[in-house]
Amino acid sequence: MLTNSKNTASTMSDVINFQPKSIFCIGCKNAFIFTTEEQTFFHSLGLTNVPKRCPHCRLYMRMRREGKSTDTLTQLNCCKCGEKTSVPFLPKSESEIFCITCFREFKKVNRKTGAKI
Ligand SMILES: [Zn+2]
Ligand SMILES: [Zn+2]
Repeated sequence: MLTNSKNTASTMSDVINFQPKSIFCIGCKNAFIFTTEEQTFFHSLGLTNVPKRCPHCRLYMRMRREGKSTDTLTQLNCCKCGEKTSVPFLPKSESEIFCITCFREFKKVNRKTGAKI
C-alpha cells in the first residue's frame, strides 16, 4: 500500500514520517514488515523500541503467557489487503479475517454497528 505525503499542513506537531521497516523475527527467523501503521501505533503508546518478533510470534507468546492453548493460533492472509496475519482462534471463514491494520480501519468505519470479529 502506498502512503503519499501530500498532507503538508501539519496540524499535529508530533507527526513522524515513519518508513516500513523489515525486521528479522527472533522467534521464527522470518523477516516481517514493521508497518508505518504499527509504528504509529507503537509511537502513540510511547514505545520507542522495535518489535523483536513478528505479529504471529507475538501472538503466540501472548497466548502462552496467558496460559491459553496455541492450537487455535492460525496464520492466514487478510481478506482485504492480503497481508499475512495471525488470529488466536480457528476462523469459520477466511473471508472474514482482517489484519490488524484493516481491522482497525474496519472498527473505525463500523463503530456504530459494534461489529465483532
Ligand atoms: Zn516470528
Ligand atoms: Zn489487511
